[in-house]
Amino acid sequence: MHTPDKIDIREVSPRDGFQSLAGFIPTDHKLHIIDLLVRAGVKEIEATSFVSPKAVPQLKDAAELMSRLPRQDIVRAALVANLRGAQDAVAAGVDQLVMVISASEAHNRANVRCSIAQSVKNLDAIFPVARENGVVVNGAIAVAFGCPYQGDVPEGDVSSLVQEFYERGASSVILADTTGMASPRRIDGMVRTFIHGFPGCRFTLHLHNNRGTAMANLLAGLLAGARSFDTALGGIGGCPNVPLAAGNLATEDVVFMLEDMGVETGIDLEKIIQAAVELEKVVGFTLPGQVMKSGPRLARVMAGLEPCYSSRRRAGR
Ligand code: ZN
Repeated sequence: MHTPDKIDIREVSPRDGFQSLAGFIPTDHKLHIIDLLVRAGVKEIEATSFVSPKAVPQLKDAAELMSRLPRQDIVRAALVANLRGAQDAVAAGVDQLVMVISASEAHNRANVRCSIAQSVKNLDAIFPVARENGVVVNGAIAVAFGCPYQGDVPEGDVSSLVQEFYERGASSVILADTTGMASPRRIDGMVRTFIHGFPGCRFTLHLHNNRGTAMANLLAGLLAGARSFDTALGGIGGCPNVPLAAGNLATEDVVFMLEDMGVETGIDLEKIIQAAVELEKVVGFTLPGQVMKSGPRLARVMAGLEPCYSSRRRAGR
């Protein structure tokens, strides 16, 4: 199996996870979880989103959260959807802007309330603001592998958005399977085509597990050459109205699998499991992550000689 020595993990639980909850998680609790993530070795964190607090009240504390984040040794990223958001994020001191555009017209209008053409036009104002302030822009393409409104999304539509980011100087583009519609074949094809077509650009896969294919998609992406993945502690993320719906790939599940394959993630498995268990306490419901329930691949744990990792794990269950 041809696997790389190491990959990058972008932790998105503070943004994609907390945004998916019905209620607001207090800023102190968010910072506590981020602190545990950093202690576990997470280096790149999508901490929040600078969008209208009316649209996403769960992230209304974006500026305060950003001002209280640790500043050393981590990349502090924030999602934005327009120039106003980018300006607010830059003023709050982010290191990285994640500018999101959907690959389908219907999803872009539903998600950010404007046309794709308008979103692309916004880039002409956003890139200079970022550059003047030494902030990196990471492009993010939502519904890149399928759209709940449109169905299939032509690869050419995704490719032209990558081109818009790439020619303005984005060093990195996130390909998001927003509602878990990808399969390994689609991932393999797109990753290989884009790595070849956009040399020097880092492609990050953001994979949701709505149909149980996220880990298979990650493996397909890894073998096709992707070297960066978005993950969320405990697999948090998904639909605000369905608390137990499958969300993102769980960080600790990805760390477990990749480290066992000899691929370095820079993250300590036991510490990230403890962080996931702590997140479960903060949100108050069972998270979909698997390794936080089963424990690492240690004989003593599997034989039941060591204590459970998750409060809900029961011997013999
Ligand atoms: Zn997501």
